[in-house]
Amino acid sequence: MNEVSQRIKALAVSATLAMSQKSQELKAQGVDVINMSVGEPDFFTPEHIKEAAKKAVDENFSFYTPVPGYLSLRKAICAKLKNENNLDFAPEQIVVGNGAKQELCNVVLALVNPGDEVVIPTPAWVSYVEMVKLAEGKPVEVFASHEQDFKITAKQLEDAITPKTSLIMLCSPSNPTGAVYTRDELRALADVLARHPKVMILADEIYEHINYTGEINSIAQFEDVRERCIIINGVSKAYAMTGWRIGFMAGPLWVAKAVSKLQGQYTSGCSSIAQKAAEAAFAGPQDCVEQMRQAFERRRDLIISLMSEIPGLKISKPEGAFYVLPEVSAYFGKKYGDKVIENDLDLAMYLLEVGHVSGVAGSAFCAPGYVRFSYATSDENIRTAVARIKEALAALK
Ligand code: PMP
Ligand code: GLU
Repeated sequence: MNEVSQRIKALAVSATLAMSQKSQELKAQGVDVINMSVGEPDFFTPEHIKEAAKKAVDENFSFYTPVPGYLSLRKAICAKLKNENNLDFAPEQIVVGNGAKQELCNVVLALVNPGDEVVIPTPAWVSYVEMVKLAEGKPVEVFASHEQDFKITAKQLEDAITPKTSLIMLCSPSNPTGAVYTRDELRALADVLARHPKVMILADEIYEHINYTGEINSIAQFEDVRERCIIINGVSKAYAMTGWRIGFMAGPLWVAKAVSKLQGQYTSGCSSIAQKAAEAAFAGPQDCVEQMRQAFERRRDLIISLMSEIPGLKISKPEGAFYVLPEVSAYFGKKYGDKVIENDLDLAMYLLEVGHVSGVAGSAFCAPGYVRFSYATSDENIRTAVARIKEALAALK
């Protein structure tokens, strides 16, 4: 029989994208669904960035691009890393690709051998575990619940590392929890990692600027682990550019070379026009980033104050990103008609079908018992959505 590979059979469908598609389908049928499943800014890309893209079209940036990205873009990224993070990188240490997602996957494929263990603090973004599986590595989940503000401790990390560990995937500010590690907490994790020199450190900082703590911290700031850190970032979240598909990795030269080699056989350099737009984003005025951050912070406060009024939900206040991840198990075992809500998957589906609000079941983030909602939407949508969630939950008996 002709059939797809074991690799694809073993791969889960992206739940964030699947839930978003389901809510779009319901919308197309005329159902008034509020989509809080996919996480992307609801703002338009700032004007000066769009202008740079139009100029690139007119100036005929229409040819294949260098595999790791235009040198001018990589230089702009190095300047960003120096100015904002006080980190020194040369353009040769940067690889630009189709979003942070591709660069994350590239790094995992470049570093993980079959059978290697990869430590993933959970709840974690849907794609981490699947990327590790693609590389035939073994995901080692380290869970931190809302009771510890979704942040793993140094002791938990130490206990998870074995001689087979080759990589840890850190995400701060985190999707799906909104947790932000403080400098001291990162220092404590770095102390553990300093004792395990074979472990590489993948720091996903895509939500760097959507941060309400007033402080931006990267684990790469610590000199004793810096040469093993690979930073992932991009323009999707900070500049409202999810559809442009530009992200990057910044790390040791040998990792950048390996990622470039992979990208050269797989996708080549990414879109010329989007790269010119991203260059304008990194090198241009940054006040748009702060304006959007303030809007997200206001919405965070709004959704937390409204959701806190719903009985049974346990919430850890998010310090970054634009997600809230309530623990919802108080509703398990309850019924709607003769349908029993057994778990978070049932509850997310119930809230979509009956409450017309789409979230994503925590199970997709290695966090059964939770449901994630993205609050990157208008105040009005947030108010209506929380009222609907409250009403739908109250209808469960
Ligand atoms: N990392 C995390 C934690 C994310 O939430 C996302 C958003 N999809 C990405 C990486 C990828 O971002 P993008 O590919 O749009 O740059
Ligand atoms: N990061 C977003 C989310 O988690 C985008 C969707 C995705 O790529 O998973 O919803």
